[in-house]
Amino acid sequence: MQTVSVKELLSGKQLQQEVTINGWVRTFRSNRFIALNDGSTINNIQCVVDFENFDETVLKQINTGSALRIGGTLVKSQGKGQSFEIQVNDIFVHGNADPDTYPIQPKKHSLEFLREKAHLRVRTNTFSAIMRVRSALSFAIHNYFRNNGFHYFHAPIITGSDAEGAGEMFRVTTLDEKNPPLTEDGTVDYKADFFGKETNLTVSGQLEAEAYAMGLGKVYTFGPTFRAENSNTSRHLAEFWMIEPEMAFFDLHDNMDLAEDFIKDVISYVLEHCQEDLAFLEKRLLDEEKSKPQAERSPMPLLEKLKFVVDNNFKRVSYTEAFDILRNSKPNKKKKFQYPIDEWGVDLQSEHERYLVEKHFNCPVILFDYPAKIKAFYMRLNEDGKTVRAMDILFPGIGEIVGGSQREERLDVLKQKIADLGIDEKELWWYLDLRRFGTAEHSGFGLGFERLVLFATGMGNIRDVIPFPRTPQNAEF
Ligand code: ATP
Ligand code: MN
Repeated sequence: MQTVSVKELLSGKQLQQEVTINGWVRTFRSNRFIALNDGSTINNIQCVVDFENFDETVLKQINTGSALRIGGTLVKSQGKGQSFEIQVNDIFVHGNADPDTYPIQPKKHSLEFLREKAHLRVRTNTFSAIMRVRSALSFAIHNYFRNNGFHYFHAPIITGSDAEGAGEMFRVTTLDEKNPPLTEDGTVDYKADFFGKETNLTVSGQLEAEAYAMGLGKVYTFGPTFRAENSNTSRHLAEFWMIEPEMAFFDLHDNMDLAEDFIKDVISYVLEHCQEDLAFLEKRLLDEEKSKPQAERSPMPLLEKLKFVVDNNFKRVSYTEAFDILRNSKPNKKKKFQYPIDEWGVDLQSEHERYLVEKHFNCPVILFDYPAKIKAFYMRLNEDGKTVRAMDILFPGIGEIVGGSQREERLDVLKQKIADLGIDEKELWWYLDLRRFGTAEHSGFGLGFERLVLFATGMGNIRDVIPFPRTPQNAEF
């Protein structure tokens, strides 16, 4: 059957024509006005029913949540609030929603309540707006990389290397949990497991992406990653999507330039293509913030904040400079930080990151050249022998959104690092091969997709920007 979307209808091109649309009822007022939504836009189309023309049994099934097919004429609206509406002459009920049990009623539901109804929450304005923005952002990401000479690379999801995520990985096994085969010393014999070794869900596709960058030049991954970290925060998921570009012949500065340009580009894309959804989310945020104390309100409305990021340079600061700023800061002197900043080399906690971004610089910040001790083994050692070419991008209200580095391309230095950490070189044999055969300067970073969606939508909890969140004690749906 030839149908049109609500989005198309609202453009008015079919004025005075007979049209057919499918959708779900948002509200049904006065036995006369149906607000129908089909997910194509945040806006509903008003369908005007002359109830005398319809059977009571049909009208009774038109409840919030019912799925309908409506036929009628698109006309200019007489009423306020919409420019077009449909004069209904035909209604088919695909499926009714019982008003006594359908949980999504036309009133304000809390985000917590809707998390428990994750299978239905996309039928609200808020979640449909978030998920359309999420979808547009994914498209923008692929688009950016395609336009900049990158190849899309699929990193494996099951990984045999555990060098990266020690202790934070989900094991993948087909062994009998009640009666696993044991080795002579009584431990589980993974040689008898499906892959003949211990395997896990990946925490990052980086190591594999490096292999591909050293042949394809510029690659990126965009896929699910898994972390069994028991951090119940509003910024962490056990399953999240990560974008990981990896570029041969890029140094740390090229890497920072790319990351900044990339973020600005995808935010510009949604500013241009998701105007109605963003306007709705901005208004939602302003309403929500009215109930908060002044100090907790965000200083800029959503759209302004997004434009600010696009139009301004990110502030680039070395760890050492940031350390000095923090050490001399008021909260540090007054002992207000939970983790005091005293000795060079301490890891920065989110309270410090927030101070830098939200109080001191008031803009996105790229921190670089971190102490080697607090960063991963594969980051390139600087000439000072104590810092590595790492860079983290910190965003207001979010904290860390990107973590990246220039990679150590020198075989001897990398081997030393691995040995110092007590990692068995054999486990990384193929990774070390990349340094044996045609090694070169290269860099990359990981951007947590949900953190980007959090920023773009102004939402506060990462559980609300992924369709079905996976967090400790929660894998319903
Ligand atoms: P954090 O300190 O916030 O836990 P991280 O240092 O563990 O982050 P990386 O290992 O550098 O993060 O991962 C790269 C990016 O992936 C981060 O900058 C962040 O955007 C995102 N990220 C990391 N862990 C999570 C998670 N559990 N849920 C959602 N996104 C995450
Ligand atoms: Mn982490």
